[in-house]
Amino acid sequence: MTRRAIVAANWKMNGDLELVKKMTEGLNDLALAENVDVILCPSYPYLMSLSEATEAEHVHLGVQNVSEHQSGAFTGEISTKMLKEMSVEFVIIGHSERRSIYKETSVQVAQKVKAVLAANLTPILCIGESEAERTAQKTELVLSAQLQPVIDEIGIEKFAEVVIAYEPVWAIGTGKTASPEMAQETHLFIRNFLADVNTTVANKVPLLYGGSVNASNCENLFAQADIDGGLIGGASLKVDEFKIICSTAKGS
Ligand code: PEP
Repeated sequence: MTRRAIVAANWKMNGDLELVKKMTEGLNDLALAENVDVILCPSYPYLMSLSEATEAEHVHLGVQNVSEHQSGAFTGEISTKMLKEMSVEFVIIGHSERRSIYKETSVQVAQKVKAVLAANLTPILCIGESEAERTAQKTELVLSAQLQPVIDEIGIEKFAEVVIAYEPVWAIGTGKTASPEMAQETHLFIRNFLADVNTTVANKVPLLYGGSVNASNCENLFAQADIDGGLIGGASLKVDEFKIICSTAKGS
């Protein structure tokens, strides 16, 4: 089974117009492997500038969150329809910071995935365990409990249009990366979890690793059979480092 590789940048609440300019200049002349997609997920105010400045065919626009509702009295929220008008193609859903700081539940996450798919956008569904959960050997339990509500909400067939980002919470922004072997083992668990319901779908879903990925560790991570790219936080704010990460990715 061949899968395209994806490198997605999660700028979180960082970046400015200067970064938009430097990043797009850097990516516009970067030669990527043919089967690699790069996704830039800035804060909403930078979408228009990024979209206007991006020339590279394999660079796409994403965001870090969206409302599960279509429109109405939801002050401060953004709808999928608005994102479509801004040329957005991907939406990060259920990042651990949204789950922990903004108390998004797995059921709400599932509703957001459904809304994103209904708008013909691609969700990047984030799942991952905390350090305490890994120590207590609950990783598989936690990941299953995060995946199952999404399967229940959208059905397994629709899962073929979802990208999953496995991000162990203890590795996000900490400099502690999962070893390539540990990440592969968990990615394989995720693929098998989906395969138990539908093997064809499981083989199609790109599984990204996220958590302190940088220019030095990306090669070994991306070399793993079930790691189809990365969701990059801190290192995606550094143009030269991010370019190295993008050039290292290869589809399978
Ligand atoms: C993230 O927040 O999605 C992330 C992976 O961050 P970092 O790369 O900084 O660990």
